Amino acid sequence: MTEPFQIRADVHTHTVASTHAYSTVTEMAQAASETGVKLLGITDYGPGAPDAPHIWHFHNYKILPREICGVKMLYGVEANIMDEFGTLDMDAHELSFCEWVVASYHTSCVSFPRTPELVTQGYRKLCENPLVDVIGHPTTAMFPFDYEPVLKLFKEAGKLVEINESSLQWKQGALENGKTVYALCKKYEIPIVLNTDAHFAGLVGKTPIAEQLLRDLDFPRSLIVSLDADRIMELARQKRNIRFDSNEKQIARESV
Ligand SMILES: [Zn+2]
Ligand SMILES: [Zn+2]
Repeated sequence: MTEPFQIRADVHTHTVASTHAYSTVTEMAQAASETGVKLLGITDYGPGAPDAPHIWHFHNYKILPREICGVKMLYGVEANIMDEFGTLDMDAHELSFCEWVVASYHTSCVSFPRTPELVTQGYRKLCENPLVDVIGHPTTAMFPFDYEPVLKLFKEAGKLVEINESSLQWKQGALENGKTVYALCKKYEIPIVLNTDAHFAGLVGKTPIAEQLLRDLDFPRSLIVSLDADRIMELARQKRNIRFDSNEKQIARESV
């Protein structure tokens, strides 16, 4: 992988709706347009997180435009995996208001002993949920799991495995574990989605740590779906009948 590297879809970001993030939807879209990102995913936290917006935040997505500052928008959620059974903090009805679903483990949301056996079981169960698009930041030391079989299962279940710039930078063990996780993704040809998880507009579209890691692994570009915004839009469209070419918002509940 030697060519210039710029993600065209950044589909895991947070706004002021999560108060430890600091920019508005419009500011995030403006930043996306300036960095060359064509598709921006807004994914504030599901209600299980201490800093989550009210559930009405998701219900009201219908009022937001399809495109801001020339950037196509996906209005979704970072849902919290709450236990060792893969239970999310939003049910199918609540998720039906969202166009894109990242599912992640966070220490603030779980109380079970985070052993590799139980985290592995949680991820296995999560794969049974058809509404999940992305497995968020699966590299932190706080949630160890049996990488090889579970990553293969993510592929079989059609879940994108995330490589998360923010997590690689800030979370304990993420960079070291990432070398193993993404080497396995390369070995088994598992598609990955590179996201910033930006909590501030100035971070949208910028992925230097992840890029270096992927270059070191000589990771195939064809497996990095966020290098091609159309590919992500197609994935979202297949599941939810979203019309990116229109200002009309068709939310997933029509197809659930
Ligand atoms: Zn997260
Ligand atoms: Zn996040």
